[in-house]
Amino acid sequence: MMVFVAYLFLWSWLPSAQCLSFRYHDSVEMEQYLKDINTTYPTITHLHSIGQSVQGRELWVLILGQHPREHRTGIPEFKYVGNMHGNEVVGRVLLLQLIDYLTSRYLTDSFVTHLLNSSRVHILPSMNPDGFESSTRDCMNIVGRYNKNGVDLNRNFPDVFEMNNKQQREKEVTAIIDWLNTETFVLSANLHGGAVVASYSYDNSNSGSELQGGSSVAPDNDVFIHLAKTYSFNHTDMHKGNACSGSYFLDGITNGYQWYPLSGGMQDYNYVRAQCLEITLEISCCKYPQESELPALWEANKPALLAYMKQVHLGVKGVVMDTNGNLVQNAVIEVAGRNNLNPFRTDRNGEYYRLLLPGTYTFTVTYPGYQALTQTLSVPYGPETFSAVTQNFLLQTTTQLPASTTEPVHKNNSAALMANTVTALTALVIQRLLRS
Ligand SMILES: [Zn+2]
Repeated sequence: MMVFVAYLFLWSWLPSAQCLSFRYHDSVEMEQYLKDINTTYPTITHLHSIGQSVQGRELWVLILGQHPREHRTGIPEFKYVGNMHGNEVVGRVLLLQLIDYLTSRYLTDSFVTHLLNSSRVHILPSMNPDGFESSTRDCMNIVGRYNKNGVDLNRNFPDVFEMNNKQQREKEVTAIIDWLNTETFVLSANLHGGAVVASYSYDNSNSGSELQGGSSVAPDNDVFIHLAKTYSFNHTDMHKGNACSGSYFLDGITNGYQWYPLSGGMQDYNYVRAQCLEITLEISCCKYPQESELPALWEANKPALLAYMKQVHLGVKGVVMDTNGNLVQNAVIEVAGRNNLNPFRTDRNGEYYRLLLPGTYTFTVTYPGYQALTQTLSVPYGPETFSAVTQNFLLQTTTQLPASTTEPVHKNNSAALMANTVTALTALVIQRLLRS
């Protein structure tokens, strides 16, 4: 009997990471779960808060990857964001299940191991914990949708088409904007409820050339459609388009604006201001379903969540450097035929990632004081090998150098130092290639 009691005592102290149940964990339980996971898997996870909600709850992000604490050159950054509308709770549950799935299968499951070795995955299970705590278990009402200040967080970002920049930013939105400024995310999705469909940019329009036949069409529309279909066709029902009564979406996808225009949304901000392609996933007809429905919702979404993450390896990646092997920050990387509202640029490590479907593309790289570089590239389907094709660009100085613009970026932070080491090696490889 004593042994049994001791066993029960020990079992009750096992980290909750060992047995994540299909139920709604409140904010305190979720925080404990994330801490337990981080303790159980310290080498492949890193837990940090990107800010606080209006009521002071931490916005916890768990990072998963072979090197979870820092960016590594060539390793793309991916993110999932859940529970932006506090009463749309399935995403929050599924992201915790996803964390459980990924951590428990690393080094035993080939797909998971390849995924975490080749990308860095950031998961924010709840962007609106205050809303979650105030919501009621109801399918369609809006109690808990907004943050504590009564603001819809998916209308509170600086709009990319309108000048609403004087609007006051909520703490949760500011935390996301700061996050986007500290990590160079490549691909993202934010999880909602109340429908079953994958929605993609643009959500808004200023009635310019982007407005085509009722849709607001982004320059990377082909990539967005591929991303949305990747989710819908890997989902049990989404691709059928009629999962919820009263609505139909061809292939289970929609252009955001065509569905309904909205201003100040998160996905347009990600795409235009942070060069991160993000889609909005509506993953349950009922916003707050019975707990008994959660296992089936996980099974329906699991293959889609995994397949979508792999798409972070679409297209082309690389660094831009000068002939001395210095990384060049803010070099403009343009792909012919894609007139992005904000051109894609190299980040603080001199790196770029450009999600593209397989095909042939003409790249032009420009930076003040250097000759424009144009190259045509053949792009394979990167997800197959868990890597986008690598293309580094070597810029030559122009003969007449304006003194103020020719200085390449030298940085003292550790990421840049590490990247510089990689660059030196890359430069050697390029020099050899140029010789041969
Ligand atoms: Zn929503």
